[in-house]
Amino acid sequence: MKKYNFSAGPSILPEFTVKKTAEAILNLDGIGLSLMEISHRSKEFDAVIKQATERMKEILSVPEGYSVLFLQGGASLQFSMVPCNFLNTKAAYVDTGVWASKAIKEAKLYGEVNVIASSAGSNYDRIPTNYAIPGDADYLHITTNNTIYGTELKKDIDSPVPLIADASSDILSRPMDVSKYALIYAGAQKNIGPSGVVVVILKNSLLEKVKRPMPTMFNYKVHVENESLYNTPSCVGIYACLQTLIWLKDLGGLKAMHKLNLEKAGLLYDEIERNRYFVSSVANTDDRSIMNVTFIMKPEYKELEPKFQEFASSRGMIGLKGHRSVGGFRASIYNAMPFEGVKALVDAMKEFENQV
Ligand SMILES: *Cc1c(COP(=O)(O)O)cnc(C)c1O
Repeated sequence: MKKYNFSAGPSILPEFTVKKTAEAILNLDGIGLSLMEISHRSKEFDAVIKQATERMKEILSVPEGYSVLFLQGGASLQFSMVPCNFLNTKAAYVDTGVWASKAIKEAKLYGEVNVIASSAGSNYDRIPTNYAIPGDADYLHITTNNTIYGTELKKDIDSPVPLIADASSDILSRPMDVSKYALIYAGAQKNIGPSGVVVVILKNSLLEKVKRPMPTMFNYKVHVENESLYNTPSCVGIYACLQTLIWLKDLGGLKAMHKLNLEKAGLLYDEIERNRYFVSSVANTDDRSIMNVTFIMKPEYKELEPKFQEFASSRGMIGLKGHRSVGGFRASIYNAMPFEGVKALVDAMKEFENQV
């Protein structure tokens, strides 16, 4: 039976990425060595990291004056690296979920944190609006897509202070105006590659604004100067990221990807609206994520939740269980999820409605 992986992360990757990486692990470019055992200083790997960096710049139209890094420690290490490198006295944060809260927790170790808006009061079922950004903050930190709750800020906002975004779960899902951001980071395992790797896109002119001593591995400048090769990088992970970037370009780039993502999300949200059993767990339609679609059974049918879970998994759909803090279901329909996968889920929802 065909399996559809709706997991939130690690999650589905393009078949192309998995195949190419598997081949390279056995024998990289026919050189008779595994991608896992070659030196990160070899000319073969040098070509990989250079291409990955260049392709990321090309696909996201990264402007001049920015660097692209492939680091380790996942998005979670960025929660600490960001304030360590940029927080002098005060930073502003928007609290849109568990990941944002974790970023806030780490920033507090480095200075004053001003949480200027939060949707915690309604269990993060929306993106807060109407908040004022303090002009004296060192930066504003936002989370563009809240993986757990299925809410997404789908535009590049204007900020009077440097804008820093955790875009782990929606990077590469749509064209982004990188010039509006001082720094964007994204754990790879949602839309790019395997876990462990984190992509950081940063504006070089913002470096060296803080004077505190910091661990060498925390220092963005060190990583920029060493072009992501200060220490041994995740060679296999970065190779896989490169394959995804190649796949994405062949597919037509971010405009084409975005169009497909809108079609997939539209199909699923329409069915959630139409189906008598289900309801979206996001308060405002505008905030509905096109990457993580969260939905629950209407209160009167709540006891049917395990039944649908079983029904879907018997049809090869895995990873649909919602996060424990939201309940219900979450269909992560990242870039690599084909339209037919979403169609299969929608068909299962329809059939379930007819059977029960
Ligand atoms: C998954 C995720 C993280 C954590 O990523 P790690 O690579 O596990 O550190 C952080 N932020 C968001 C928005 C995520 O989706």
